[in-house]
Amino acid sequence: MATLWRRRERFLGVLGRLCRTVRALSGKNEYDLLVIGGGSGGLACAKEAAQFGRKVAVLDYVEPSPKGTKWGLGGTCVNVGCIPKKLMHQAALLGSALKDAQHYGWNIAQPVHHTWSVMAQAVQNHVKSLNWGHRVQLQDKKVKYFNMKGSFSDPHTIRGLTKAGKETIVTAENIVIATGGRPKYPMHIAGALEYGITSDDLFWLKESPGKTLVVGASYVSLECAGFLTGIGLDTTVMMRSIPLRGFDQQMASLVTEHMECYGTKFLKRCFPTKVEKLEGNRLQVTWKNTDLGTEETDCFDTVMWAVEPVKDTSAYQEQKRSCYVEM
Ligand SMILES: Cc1cc2nc3c(=O)[nH]c(=O)nc-3n(C[C@H](O)[C@H](O)[C@H](O)COP(=O)(O)OP(=O)(O)OC[C@H]3O[C@@H](n4cnc5c(N)ncnc54)[C@H](O)[C@@H]3O)c2cc1C
Repeated sequence: MATLWRRRERFLGVLGRLCRTVRALSGKNEYDLLVIGGGSGGLACAKEAAQFGRKVAVLDYVEPSPKGTKWGLGGTCVNVGCIPKKLMHQAALLGSALKDAQHYGWNIAQPVHHTWSVMAQAVQNHVKSLNWGHRVQLQDKKVKYFNMKGSFSDPHTIRGLTKAGKETIVTAENIVIATGGRPKYPMHIAGALEYGITSDDLFWLKESPGKTLVVGASYVSLECAGFLTGIGLDTTVMMRSIPLRGFDQQMASLVTEHMECYGTKFLKRCFPTKVEKLEGNRLQVTWKNTDLGTEETDCFDTVMWAVEPVKDTSAYQEQKRSCYVEM
């Protein structure tokens, strides 16, 4: 096995050198611009460059979340960010409008109930239509799309790897890194990775998350907690320090006060220490309350981590490494 792997690496090395030689001899790269990452940034960049008559390619590859959730072209905003979030907020807003409607003379049987699976199916179908739309737009603008994970071989050469492990070498005069970021798991908390999810999973759940603990004080945390409360789920936000760090704190207080009025619970100055699975798949979370100096627990159906996201710089790190080797 090790011999095979060494042979494969040698072969790839030879292939990379061959590409570089061809490029050096011809003085030409295959593309004027190669963009790594097909999210909002990468797609906009690729399409603009193509409008200027440049030969452009985009590489996009979604690493499945630790829970196995994956999605199509368009990046965070389309698949696990702005778009599904806004649709789920709309679901929440419709629910409160339905409750108000009776006071405006509408005859709507109360109480109204929400079915997660119906909403999720509609949101996911819409997102899939956007994935398709992005592929068509690239085709129309003659931008070549590779569904591959890219890494640098040298500053003008990218090794693309498909899910099945097939490799393609692509060369370009200019390379843009637009790899975005992914949510982070607090790996120091026992059970965090094993039992928790992130926003990467929430929008693709087929069944309701039920009673949910959202951990973190980021905008992702508050936004998700907001629509979960709005569709009628028992939702708690746990934060170690202040909400929306870096934002205007007067506005941040208005946001959390408004959310509290609508039923979101807040555990402030608390941080989780472990997550355990109980019988019946419920999750028992233990946390420290730093105000009272106590240890507390409660049970939830879902624990969602929404701590600060991390930039996905693996492609960039490789470039730095290869540049270093080159020099
Ligand atoms: C829940 C949530 C709600 C949000 N709401 C809003 C909002 O309302 N308004 C707003 O403006 N912003 C919002 N954002 C932020 C917004 O989604 C991001 O700022 C935006 O999507 C970033 O775009 P990007 O192109 O930089 O990266 P991304 O959209 O993350 O795209 C990067 C792409 O590159 C791929 N990739 C990574 N590495 C490689 C590699 N080596 N090879 C190939 N492909 C690779 C990734 O899989 C991904 O498809 C929200 C984010 C979240 C999580």
